Amino acid sequence: MLIGSYSPVLAFISLCVAILASYTALDLTGRIATARGRAAYLWMAGGALAMGVGIWSMHFIGMLAFKLPIALAFDGPLTLLSLLIAILSSGFALWLVSQPRLPALQLALGALVMGAGISAMHYCGMAALKMQPGIDYDPTLFGASLAIAVGASAAALWIAFRLRRNTPYVRLARSGAAVIMGLAIVGMHYTGMAAANFSQGSFCGALGSGLSGKGLDNLVLVTSLAVLSIALLTSLLDARLEARTAVLADSLSQANQELVQLALHDTLTGLPNRVLLADRIDQAMHKATAEGGCFALMFIDLDGFKPVNDAFGHHMGDQLLREVALRLREDLRSQDTLARIGGDEFVLLVQLAEPDDALQVASRQVSLMSLPFRVAGHDLLISASLGIVLYPGNGQTAEELLMNADAAMYHAKGAGKNGHSFFDASMNNNALKQLQLLQDLRQALEQQQFRLYYQPKFDALKGTPVGAEALLRWEHPEEGLLLPDKFITLAEKTGLIIPIGDWVLNEACRQMRLWYEQGYQHWRIAVNLSALQFCHAGLVDSVAGALERHQLPANSLTLEITETTAMNDADASMAVLQQLSDMGVDLSIDDFGTGYSSLMYLKRLPANELKIDRGFVRDLEHDSDDAAIVSAIVALGQALGLRIVAEGVETDMQQNFLTRLGCDSLQGYLLGHPLPAERFMADIDRLKQQAAS
Ligand code: C2E
Ligand code: MG
Ligand code: MG
Repeated sequence: MLIGSYSPVLAFISLCVAILASYTALDLTGRIATARGRAAYLWMAGGALAMGVGIWSMHFIGMLAFKLPIALAFDGPLTLLSLLIAILSSGFALWLVSQPRLPALQLALGALVMGAGISAMHYCGMAALKMQPGIDYDPTLFGASLAIAVGASAAALWIAFRLRRNTPYVRLARSGAAVIMGLAIVGMHYTGMAAANFSQGSFCGALGSGLSGKGLDNLVLVTSLAVLSIALLTSLLDARLEARTAVLADSLSQANQELVQLALHDTLTGLPNRVLLADRIDQAMHKATAEGGCFALMFIDLDGFKPVNDAFGHHMGDQLLREVALRLREDLRSQDTLARIGGDEFVLLVQLAEPDDALQVASRQVSLMSLPFRVAGHDLLISASLGIVLYPGNGQTAEELLMNADAAMYHAKGAGKNGHSFFDASMNNNALKQLQLLQDLRQALEQQQFRLYYQPKFDALKGTPVGAEALLRWEHPEEGLLLPDKFITLAEKTGLIIPIGDWVLNEACRQMRLWYEQGYQHWRIAVNLSALQFCHAGLVDSVAGALERHQLPANSLTLEITETTAMNDADASMAVLQQLSDMGVDLSIDDFGTGYSSLMYLKRLPANELKIDRGFVRDLEHDSDDAAIVSAIVALGQALGLRIVAEGVETDMQQNFLTRLGCDSLQGYLLGHPLPAERFMADIDRLKQQAAS
């Protein structure tokens, strides 16, 4: 028998090549796992080539390391075939570990196929020696080499599958695994070699025609190292690129998320805003239509939020809103949505098992809102009015549902606040009417549908007229004569009150000029201002313009502002009032007693007149409190040097009482209703004649 020996250097090199090939293979499985589409196949093909060349060259260098006392060469076609087998089995292995799952059975089958591949490569490579007579294999060692090939393949596949995702320490883990895999491959090779017995006198049949000679080992080594390094380098560069892209994609998606958050949420409370709410309603409607079931939409408006905001400032108001949002959200389940869609308006979308469940949710939310809120050391008391619509039933679109819930909420407010109302079709009519009215209001000025009615004011003691209050009326083409409570709020909401208010000022001054010329120079004409006009920068100019146009002394015009308006932003009010007062215009605080006046401000306001709210006058006879309040207001006004006017005088008793208390002038149905200018004058003339006769 021929005794073989190994070149230790080449044997060591074969081990290094095996480890490098294993590391490259593991690294490439990572690439394949994260690549998509065509890129994954390219990586797989490249990987199969690199890994196949690596394993094969380990084997071939191992063969070159083997020395027999006779000359050896390798048959070209068989050697190429062994390389092809190595590449194909590597490709199969890479494909297998790039599958989403690797169950035990698949792993076992894969290990068998791959083990068979490696063994086939090895023994095909041995066959390339074309030994004559043939190599005699020791059955036990041969079997052991096959077993090692399958076992090593199983371990390699399992490790590659586990390590394909980029986890922390993956490089270190891969290096360790590569060493184990390299040792297994080399172990298989040398076991296989140990199984081979070459009988005495054999000779190598590949000599002459086959590959042989010096330098073959170097050529194979350099080529395979080049292939492996290129594969590894490409893989490393690509991984770095991918990591960079991932970081970029990450920050992009984060920026996107922030944008979405901003666009779809309310910044104060972090709750969904109107846009997101509309989307959630649409989704809920689809779900209800497709799967059945129902949901409720609850429109929540806070009662008494504005006074808190006015009295304590926006900062407190904001904090209160945050607390409200927290409390409303307390009971909600994940499938429900709470949105803030306006200043103190919230909308709640609740999925219901039964339509009747809406009632329980609504009453719970209403009662939660009526408990005090502790904000910055203050106990604040507010409440909520809640309008409910149900789907299916109360609307077809998100807008319609919201509009109807809003209408129901207004109904709850009208019914005394701090409660809830279910939507009813009649409420909708109301909302539509409002919409129609708004369209008409836009044209009312142009079409000259506004009129001024005049209500006389009388000197309390002498009973002589001292002027009139101009009260706005709208002659609506279909609705007839409309009182201010039907349209002033609408005009204020839309800003139309500014041009309308200018018209009133001008018209009242025009009328006053006529009376002035008729000899009533001592009269004053009173014009009501809304809060919005009062905040508007053009007010002082408008007033000056109207007086100048009709050549009236500023003193013949009284501007009435309500107590609430005057106290709303007291410092700003003070500045505007001071300018008007400097012009010589007479100023009156209307509806006095209904707001929250601070005596400090009241003292500093350059007002000339206080009008006691008709609410106090009405109950004067029955309510001793009101009598006490009126006498207090009169005393206060007198102390501040203001004229006191009582409005809403309807009975003789009220007239006597108010006169006795010391009111300067009186106004009310008892003395005269608001009337158009001609009829107003007719009444005045009649009074004059009565007095004369
Ligand atoms: P106000 O300024 O307090 O006007 C007095 C209101 O009391 C008038 O109602 C008048 O008709 C009513 N009134 C007068 N005497 C009596 C009485 O004896 N008993 C009762 N129950 N009521 C009486 P009107 O005309 O409906 O005006 C309501 C409110 O609309 C006014 O309250 C005022 O705040 C506002 N308003 C009226 N005209 C204008 C205007 O041109 N511009 C603005 N911004 N507001 C206006
Ligand atoms: Mg008034
Ligand atoms: Mg009034």
